[in-house]
Amino acid sequence: MTDMDKQQLRTALRKRRAALSPSWGQNRSHAAGEHVRSLDIWHSAKEVLLYWPVREELDVRPLVKELWDRSCRVLMPRCRPDEYGHMDIACASCEDDLIPGAFSILEPDAKRCPPVASCTPDLAIIPAVCFDRHGYRLGYGGGYYDRLLAGDAMRDTVKVGVGYAFQLIDALPVQPWDIPVDIICTDEEIWRP
Ligand code: ADP
Ligand code: MG
Repeated sequence: MTDMDKQQLRTALRKRRAALSPSWGQNRSHAAGEHVRSLDIWHSAKEVLLYWPVREELDVRPLVKELWDRSCRVLMPRCRPDEYGHMDIACASCEDDLIPGAFSILEPDAKRCPPVASCTPDLAIIPAVCFDRHGYRLGYGGGYYDRLLAGDAMRDTVKVGVGYAFQLIDALPVQPWDIPVDIICTDEEIWRP
């Protein structure tokens, strides 16, 4: 698979995702969320990095709210406005902390939530355009999560990729900067590469 094939795969999968009905997406997001909830690490984690979904991404908002309810430290990435492909990590304590940032993604408001100086998330829940069964990830093409996962903070983090079942494919090309996830939860299965 070449870079061009990766781009074609991104286009095809995003098109498929965009065609989903909202009610189907909600139903399947709930099923995938139940798989996340069945993981031991979900219950033991004190500090979790995850995202607020945009467009047709798997809806993990119920998971985020559950973590807030149990007073877990909720970390979210925030795109750096001045540095393409790079994200800071900030701590959000409630939905009011989130405002639209780059790509209209809701992110922690920089005024209320400064970048955290240090963190060691026990768990990270990671979106993708797709994953393969070795745990490798295809993103939107900016390498954002590749850089994030390469950071020292994430070395011992249990990395859980989430997506719809059709977003899990057999194999992606592996590139030198790729860091695989440890577990993939879809609406149909829990896959351990
Ligand atoms: P995506 O993960 O969003 O699908 P790619 O894996 O194709 O995108 O990466 C996009 C670009 O980001 C590549 O050109 C790659 O060189 C760059 N990149 C990815 N990870 C890193 C990293 N850890 N350090 C520096 N550059 C990186
Ligand atoms: Mg990548």
